[in-house]
Amino acid sequence: MGNVGCVIEDSAGTRLLIDYGLAPTRPPKYPSEAPPVKHAIMTHAHIDHIGMAPWLTSHGTMLHGTDLTAAVSEIMWADTYKVSDIEGYPLAWDKRDMEVALDSWIPHQFDTWFDVGEWKCRLHPAGHIPGAAMIEIQTPDATILWTGDIDTRDSPNAPKATPVDCDILCLEGTYGGRTHPDRAEEEARFVSRVLEVVSRGGVALVPAFASGRGQDILRILHREAPTLDVHYDGMGTRVTREWLGCPEFIQDSRAMEAAYRWSRRVTGKSDRKKALGADVIVTTSGMLDGGPALWYLNRLRHDGSNAILLTGYQAEGSGGRRLLELGSLPIFGKQTRIPLEIDKFDLSNHADHPSLCKFASDCGPSHVVIFHADESAAKALAEDIGEETKVHIPSNNDTLEIS
Ligand SMILES: [Zn+2]
Repeated sequence: MGNVGCVIEDSAGTRLLIDYGLAPTRPPKYPSEAPPVKHAIMTHAHIDHIGMAPWLTSHGTMLHGTDLTAAVSEIMWADTYKVSDIEGYPLAWDKRDMEVALDSWIPHQFDTWFDVGEWKCRLHPAGHIPGAAMIEIQTPDATILWTGDIDTRDSPNAPKATPVDCDILCLEGTYGGRTHPDRAEEEARFVSRVLEVVSRGGVALVPAFASGRGQDILRILHREAPTLDVHYDGMGTRVTREWLGCPEFIQDSRAMEAAYRWSRRVTGKSDRKKALGADVIVTTSGMLDGGPALWYLNRLRHDGSNAILLTGYQAEGSGGRRLLELGSLPIFGKQTRIPLEIDKFDLSNHADHPSLCKFASDCGPSHVVIFHADESAAKALAEDIGEETKVHIPSNNDTLEIS
């Protein structure tokens, strides 16, 4: 888990690469070198799925994905480039490769067939984030469904993934073996915690990913607590503008637009100082690894009525994980104690174990290949799904043959 990429090939030699990402750790983790491919499908615009695409396109690969994935990719690549430049990490591609990558997109609408060699492909909504796609591939021998990251529940912004009949199902397993709390109850718990912090005179700092979680938070707060003064800072503001340019991918795009206009967007230094007096600040990075979140945290940490409300997974080694475990984290290179209330909410945009099992069963495949799962998650899924279907758990760099 971390960075994703997989080559699918048939006996006649047609091949396709699906996703090619890098893990945004410090330093980033790179995937093994991809073989030459003419076509790659990018399921969605998270950096662990598209981060290495500029390297591919500099070697002649064309990129397929939804219009929205293509539109957001520029922001994600530019940010990756900027961070590696500032922090001095080597990156396998440069600015010119990024320009080539932007010219290499072949965007597609959902549910529209296109050819890759002998194969027919079409994209289906994956839930997860707006524009995220599952890919259905009809080869002469079998129909394959690659889920990418999926959520089988509607989220505030992305309509859910629904099952597709297939012979081979390649299923993400991030939440194998785990069950989410009820989504509506978790949203309500989040809102009531925000109101509690505000009523004692504090500011709720909500670190959130730029592409997905931050916009979900805005929708929830706008819907449930429209009198709050919510400031929105960081890369998410630019991502949201791309979303609003592709409204067909957004669940009730007008409500998203209203929530965005309702929030006070932070665009400069003076805005940032004003935001310190807000009720809620929604900003990147979601794992407190950089971005405006650290600047705010450094100011807000002196007043015990403030609180940090984490809304996403905190990876091993991330600032957020250290904060949870040690009560301190590095801010501008200095380990800093944060004596504030911290709470965590499960607002995940991935399907959990029971939903993944049901989805697999509803697709009716003869084979299920589990990816994007750690060992225990994959095993838990294999145990349940394996009762009806043959399950494969390839490890990184493995070649899996299905005949
Ligand atoms: Zn994702």
